Amino acid sequence: MTKVLKIHPVTPAQAQAMQAAAKAVKPNTFPVPDHFTAAVLTTSGAIYPGVSYRSDTRTLTMHGEATALAHAAIHGESDIIAITGPNCHICKQLIWESAIRSGIDIQVAMDDGQLVPISKQMPYPWPDVEGRKFAKHEKPLN
Ligand SMILES: [Zn+2]
Repeated sequence: MTKVLKIHPVTPAQAQAMQAAAKAVKPNTFPVPDHFTAAVLTTSGAIYPGVSYRSDTRTLTMHGEATALAHAAIHGESDIIAITGPNCHICKQLIWESAIRSGIDIQVAMDDGQLVPISKQMPYPWPDVEGRKFAKHEKPLN
C-alpha cells in the first residue's frame, strides 16, 4: 500500500498570520534587509518565521524557508502543516522531504490566499513518498 500524506486544515486566519509573520522579519534578512522570508505553521499552532541568510558563495546561502524549518526544529517541532510561498525549487525539495518524514502533506500558503499542497508541486518527487531514493532496477552504493 502506498503511503498517503495527510493534509491538516489551515484556516484563512492562520494563513494570514503566517504571511504577517514572514513580513514582520523582512528587516532581518542577512546581510541585506528586505530579501526573502518565510514562515511555517506546526501542528501545535505555533508559527516560526525564517529569513534568508546570504553567503558570498551563493551556494551556502540559506533561504527563508530553510531557516523557518530550522527555527521550528530548534523549538522541537518537526510536524509542519503549512509554509508560506511560492517557493524556489530548492525549497520545494526541502519542504517535500519534511513532508515525507512527518507524513504531513505541507500546504503552501500563497500570497493570494491559495493553499497548494507540496505533493501537487512535486509530480515526480525524489525521494518518492515512501522515501525510496533508487529505481527498482538500481542498487544502493554501499
Ligand atoms: Zn528557496
